[in-house]
Amino acid sequence: MSDFRLEAVKCKNCGSGLVVEMNDNIVYCSSCGSGFEILQEGLIPIEINFAAPAVRSEGEMIYKPFWLLKTTLNILERKASGAFLKNLFGGSGESTSGNITFYIPAFYCSLDTLRNIATQYTLKNPVASPQKYNVSLKGFDYGKQDAKKLSEFLLISFEAEKSDVMKNFRYDLIFNSMEILGIPFYNLGSGRFKDAVLGTEIQI
Ligand SMILES: [Zn+2]
Repeated sequence: MSDFRLEAVKCKNCGSGLVVEMNDNIVYCSSCGSGFEILQEGLIPIEINFAAPAVRSEGEMIYKPFWLLKTTLNILERKASGAFLKNLFGGSGESTSGNITFYIPAFYCSLDTLRNIATQYTLKNPVASPQKYNVSLKGFDYGKQDAKKLSEFLLISFEAEKSDVMKNFRYDLIFNSMEILGIPFYNLGSGRFKDAVLGTEIQI
């Protein structure tokens, strides 16, 4: 059985024909800039924006989808923290809550690759003003629930610089909104890609 099947749907906003690959759970209309989640009950609107390229490189540019999760983190208990949380909350690190925007790949990649690129983007938060582009955006393998779990995985990995700290780390992570962000990558060949915002190379 083939795992590559195409399905035709129409954009609910402008009526353009959209092509959906079987495993995709999101579709982007490059004609009008609308995004939709593909659910049992139909196409549900979701915000999709793009990051502008900032780094030049060889290779064809393509866009890969990330989940952008805007969260509020409340720390209930911790004995010590990694540098990330100290930086996040500014100065002393005494504060007990703050906002974090997680960048989680929505496309399939290894866990090491995912952690590497998600960590860099989440720490640097380099796309303050995403914008609409008329480009193709495909390859949505991870859905909302996956993205939430991966955000928590990332949060714990920030805090777990010292493993003996973990038993004392209790938190409440509130997901305020979830959007899609298309990030430009250069295709370097042989499964290697270089992102055009931070210049990070990944292997897929
Ligand atoms: Zn449309």
